[in-house]
Amino acid sequence: MSISVTGANKHYGDFAALDNVSIDIPEGSLTSLLGPSGSGKSTLLRSIAGLDSLDSGSIEINGKDVTHASPQQRDIGFVFQHYAAFKHLSVRDNVAFGLKIRKKPKAEVEAKVDELLEIVGLVGFQRRFPAQLSGGQRQRMALARALAVDPKVLLLDEPFGALDAKVREDLRKWLRRLHDEVHVTTVLVTHDQQEALDVSDRIAVLNKGRIEQIGTPDDLYDRPANVFVASFLGSTV
Ligand code: ADP
Ligand code: MG
Repeated sequence: MSISVTGANKHYGDFAALDNVSIDIPEGSLTSLLGPSGSGKSTLLRSIAGLDSLDSGSIEINGKDVTHASPQQRDIGFVFQHYAAFKHLSVRDNVAFGLKIRKKPKAEVEAKVDELLEIVGLVGFQRRFPAQLSGGQRQRMALARALAVDPKVLLLDEPFGALDAKVREDLRKWLRRLHDEVHVTTVLVTHDQQEALDVSDRIAVLNKGRIEQIGTPDDLYDRPANVFVASFLGSTV
């Protein structure tokens, strides 16, 4: 599913969290929203998800206008930084949750959960409870849970933010592999330049509620559009 945001504005009082933002996210891509704290990344992601409403502008998913659609109508999987796992459910039941509430046949649920646990490397941990997992394992469980219902779009808001550098790096590689396998259109919010450069097909650099530049990691690094992008990525204009 492609995502298209056109002329998005969002104000908090006089403050513009999104200032005339337009972005096209191609089907099957892994696109990062990169920018410093307060640049509007989460606001843009939440707007795509339907968790925040725009003051003006529009959002289309696969050519269908969803500007006023509820989150449930958008077929989207989320992983936010402080992801709320069900503490009283096992890893397996956490991953199965979305399928069970959709009343999928038992055999289908079991097969899908087996497949996902395998992909995220948690087969040996499926009977544990979330509190018995490491931070990285919990994030992988969160990703499996989000993917269980075959979302058309996966939105990740700083999903690895709280983890240490080594675990982040492993998860980045793992996210890239996962994306290459399932091809779900993915939008990753991050303030980490290296993370964006490492995992993305495309990067949108945000600053003060505006998009400064959109392109491939190479485009941005080799041909930054302005001094902000250059200094933020640590390259030279
Ligand atoms: P980022 O995710 O890039 O750090 P956000 O999208 O969360 O940035 O926020 C962009 C700006 O909008 C910030 O300055 C933030 O303080 C402001 N903002 C976000 N949500 C609210 C809110 N509910 N009320 C007031 N200001 C907000
Ligand atoms: Mg944020």
